[in-house]
Amino acid sequence: MSRVVDVIVVGGGHAGCEAALACARLGKETLLVTGSIERVAAMSCNPAIGGVGKGHLVKELDVLGGEMGRAADETGIHFRTLNESRGPAVRATRCQSDMDKYQRAMSRVVSTATNLRLRQDDVTGLHLKDGVAAGVVTRTGEILHARRVILTTGTFLGGLLHRGQDRAPGGRAGEAQAQGLSSSLTQAGLVLGRLKTGTCPRLDARTIDTSTLEEQRPDTPSPRFSADSPALPPLPQISCWLTRTTKQTHQVIHDAVAAGRSPLFNGAIEGRGPRYCPSLEDKVIRFAEKESHLIFLEPHGLDTFEVYPNGLSTSLPPDVQLQFLRTIPGLEQSEVTRWGYAVEYDFVEPTQLSNSLETKTVPGLYCAGQLNGTTGYEEAAIQGLLAGINAARSLDDAAPLVLRRDQAYAGVLVDDLVTKGTDEPYRMFTSRAEHRLLLREDNVAARLLEVSERIGLLGAARRERLRAHEDAVAAAIAGLDSLRVFPTEATNASLIAAGTAPIHETTTAAKLMRRPQLGLALVRSLAHAPVLPDDVVDARLAFRVETELRYGGYLERAATEVARERALDDEALPPSIFDRLAGKDRLSGISNEVKEKLLRLRPQTLGQASRIQGVTPAAVGLLAVEVRRIASQR
Ligand SMILES: Cc1cc2nc3c(=O)[nH]c(=O)nc-3n(C[C@H](O)[C@H](O)[C@H](O)COP(=O)(O)OP(=O)(O)OC[C@H]3O[C@@H](n4cnc5c(N)ncnc54)[C@H](O)[C@@H]3O)c2cc1C
Repeated sequence: MSRVVDVIVVGGGHAGCEAALACARLGKETLLVTGSIERVAAMSCNPAIGGVGKGHLVKELDVLGGEMGRAADETGIHFRTLNESRGPAVRATRCQSDMDKYQRAMSRVVSTATNLRLRQDDVTGLHLKDGVAAGVVTRTGEILHARRVILTTGTFLGGLLHRGQDRAPGGRAGEAQAQGLSSSLTQAGLVLGRLKTGTCPRLDARTIDTSTLEEQRPDTPSPRFSADSPALPPLPQISCWLTRTTKQTHQVIHDAVAAGRSPLFNGAIEGRGPRYCPSLEDKVIRFAEKESHLIFLEPHGLDTFEVYPNGLSTSLPPDVQLQFLRTIPGLEQSEVTRWGYAVEYDFVEPTQLSNSLETKTVPGLYCAGQLNGTTGYEEAAIQGLLAGINAARSLDDAAPLVLRRDQAYAGVLVDDLVTKGTDEPYRMFTSRAEHRLLLREDNVAARLLEVSERIGLLGAARRERLRAHEDAVAAAIAGLDSLRVFPTEATNASLIAAGTAPIHETTTAAKLMRRPQLGLALVRSLAHAPVLPDDVVDARLAFRVETELRYGGYLERAATEVARERALDDEALPPSIFDRLAGKDRLSGISNEVKEKLLRLRPQTLGQASRIQGVTPAAVGLLAVEVRRIASQR
């Protein structure tokens, strides 16, 4: 019998790398089993990290001690802050990474980590002992033993690649599908569903004519994801380019769909695709009122001429791909280096997981990443990190790390998955959070640093840097709060020049900061006092202080609402409540439809129950009464 390790992680993608690193760094002997060691941390699709909602996830992962932010900062070749002119809740960091360098950077960290070994192998089944996860079975029939198992197999379970009429088994282009594991999971009692995602053809930059296209330059200074990263990106920064589809492009798509050449529309693909990241044929057919769609031409890296035309994901046959490329400005002469395709795959219905990402059916088995019905590197990575932390903590009998919805997008993501499930690839958006002004990129340390310190994954340097920033913010706000501004002629002239009303009474600098026209720099100059020395006020600190003070009223109201909602989330539903729901004449007043949902999804708290679609406030009220009745009998 092979040695029993603490944790086996299956799959070396974005979820698997974070899961394995978290376990190993928390002192657990970890084995990462993956189909190809050369493909560890491969970017299957767009070589970009972050964006609205996704950038928030990466920053949360960074504060919790994950790796993705550092790897993205190390290998980014085009950094931008999105939505700079919009509200602070939707301001987000995004970078185009050098695809090969990102993979190599992450592989290096994984393969040199203490407590972590790699094994190139295909896992074909689970090994259970008395219904509990006890390891995995490989293609050769070998059993690898472990006390916990984390599955992060991405799009590989039952993977089927589509390109026009061509259909072939595969996890992604050039890699075989995972065989056997789906049926092993089904035998263990897990329910699987089917989803699909797709990718674009790749183009040779030397055949693209950018002379008429809009250039998108990277931001300077570059925003960064990780508190560990130096201010300047180590790699040269390069531009992307913008173009658009035309009427002719849409005609080519319409004709191909009408001729039955699209596997999406001719019934060949059964799995649901991502509604918010649709393929080109989806966009053209389903949003027929739009005459044109934006395409971002994003380079794969510094040492390659390959370009990713973001927005042209397709599973149409190669001749149609070529035909529509010819109709897009700048791409008329473009040469394709790889064809676009779609992949259909099995996923684990995530309502079968508890909020620690452990399956409810098989104790000791955790699932993370695309396997749970999500799409995106960032969504995968944060789940991997949480699954890794929780598998490691369970070995020490420690309570799982469960983040609240008002605390982190990671909390929203997990709660959405395990409470509501998903019938399309789930992608993070800021609109999924009830209180998005509380979940900003700029206040990520305020939200998560304390929790992270308890978990113990964050290195000392990163922790101290984050802590120092939080202390500087607190000192700045306290300073502005105590600093008086007098209604002098000079002050009022400055206020009027800034487009805001003069003051007639002495006020505080903090109160003035509530006015949207006034930034920290101006208010400091009005106060005529060195409340914040120049060398302390960088742009990051100024933005944070301005946001906290300007939106102070909203933030206080949101905090009150959160406190009310938290009361529901703190109310655990005892298992006996489900026996009563299942029994005859019990808990009358709750409709059969609501009962069926509650019994199927088994929410862990009243808060979770209240977020299940169709569970009415009246039903939640009845459940609350029952919880109290059960508690009083104890
Ligand atoms: C065609 C395509 C298009 C995509 N388009 C987008 C997009 O537009 N936007 C976006 O955000 N995301 C997109 N993605 C998704 C993105 O690639 C994934 O969300 C992300 O990679 C998921 O990370 P993961 O760790 O869950 O899985 P993956 O990165 O897929 O990693 C899975 C790993 O598990 C290994 N593995 C699988 N089964 C086994 C087994 N049985 N035994 C051993 N090892 C195994 C594989 O070798 C692989 O290393 C796309 C993916 C594909 C394939």
